[in-house]
Amino acid sequence: MTHTITLIPGDGIGPEVSRATQVVLEASGVKIDWEIQHAGAAVAETQGTTLPNSVLESIRRNKIALKGPIGTPIGKGFRSVNVTLRQALDLYANVRPVKSLHGVEPRFEGTDIVIVRENTEDLYAGLELIIMPGVAQSIKLITERSCTRICEYAFDYAARLGRKRVTVVHKANIMKLSDGLLLECFRKVALKHPKIEPAEMIVDACAMQMVRNANKLDVIVTENLYGDILSDLGAGLVGGLGIVPGANIGHEAAVFEAVHGSAPDIAGKGLANPTALIQSAVMMLHHIGESAAAQKIDRALITLYERGEVRTADLGGSASTDEFTEALCKAMATA
Ligand code: NAD
Repeated sequence: MTHTITLIPGDGIGPEVSRATQVVLEASGVKIDWEIQHAGAAVAETQGTTLPNSVLESIRRNKIALKGPIGTPIGKGFRSVNVTLRQALDLYANVRPVKSLHGVEPRFEGTDIVIVRENTEDLYAGLELIIMPGVAQSIKLITERSCTRICEYAFDYAARLGRKRVTVVHKANIMKLSDGLLLECFRKVALKHPKIEPAEMIVDACAMQMVRNANKLDVIVTENLYGDILSDLGAGLVGGLGIVPGANIGHEAAVFEAVHGSAPDIAGKGLANPTALIQSAVMMLHHIGESAAAQKIDRALITLYERGEVRTADLGGSASTDEFTEALCKAMATA
């Protein structure tokens, strides 16, 4: 069967890691008809918008997309394409498995947790205003509906993948109403899942716990901003942003993308590690029922990292993106 999938190459290192991922997927034997769509600053120059309707229509039609990172200028400028896309398609669950790859480096061994981040609300709702000169306000929007569905997603995910515990991460000691609402919804949803152990942790304590004994947290469910920050901390625990994959899941569509951004410091130099987007594509293959191809890529990645001969610069090696991709395809052919 041929799958039609939307591909948004993105900007910065996006096109480099997207191309590498396409090559690896083709070598895995899975048949994909890519529908290429562009979004971001370069598109705005010709189309007057960073996220043309045709991109959203393509994803709605195909239900599945693979996306490279898209940069957002800090301060004034356009709104994040990533946030707008997640809100427009109601991709409410951002799933980020944080798992060590054997052989990357001994101090990164053994971590295996999953961060489930609410993807549509919180301080990312885009509700900001200047109250008076010198006074700015950002509104933290939290609804019962979104808290309940993200907690339900986290417990269902834990049950599906045989996980033992779901830890809700919050700051309800200070934000008693907004984070308090998340906690209240979490407790109600937990009652419906007696086989999964519920746990609660304040976000600052969680940051320390992740460094000392991350696996105790098992599956984390949390709000948008805490999830964003803890995901990068998680990436640091397993070897960096070049590795960690992600998925944005909604009822109508799913968009798979790495945790990392467009890495302008290394863009266009052929230095980017494509592992994070390749692992996101592996999640995508499981999602569309191509688990055999997913496992084939997974096994080849494990073999390649265990051998340790071909590494990109972020992990101490000297291989280019293309050399890494070629070595991975070879490992797949011999696995
Ligand atoms: P970043 O993730 O792009 O880069 C942080 C550091 O990690 C850099 O030193 C970079 O070189 C390195 N890095 C990231 N990915 C790598 C890879 N695959 N291989 C090797 N090294 C890698 O974070 P940033 O610099 O804070 O953000 C750059 C831009 O990306 C910003 O405009 C930001 O808004 C955007 N961003 C987009 C997304 C997304 O599209 N989902 C996510 C995060 C950030």
